[in-house]
Amino acid sequence: MNRDCIFCKIAAGEIPCRKVYEDEEVIAFHDINPAAPVHFMLVPKVHIVSLADARAGHEGLLGRILLLAPRLAGEQGLADGFRTIINTGRGGGQEVMHLHVHVMGGGRLHPM
Ligand code: 5GP
Ligand code: ZN
Repeated sequence: MNRDCIFCKIAAGEIPCRKVYEDEEVIAFHDINPAAPVHFMLVPKVHIVSLADARAGHEGLLGRILLLAPRLAGEQGLADGFRTIINTGRGGGQEVMHLHVHVMGGGRLHPM
């Protein structure tokens, strides 16, 4: 756990969140400043700074997160589909330096 990291503190239960899902390795919660009618994030509990810091040993964890995304999106009512975004580093617009996968939908999304 990184004591300076807001997502580590959320994963540890030290900061409240609107939880969508939790297991031993992963927590998912709604974004505090949603960019779509449904907007939550999948977060590994281990402190990985960004996708650029993921290593071979994280393969299973990253795979689990990607497989959870459609399941949780469906549970959140996104039967029509959803968008996933992983911002990486300053150049990718990442603001919280703990790897997370955004899942959003439930309205008209602008084309990429
Ligand atoms: P990034 O820009 O790093 O990909 O996304 C970080 C996201 O985390 C932003 O969409 C922001 O609204 C969200 N966020 C930042 N602080 C908190 C918080 O304390 N709680 C929750 N639920 N979301 C947060
Ligand atoms: Zn962290």
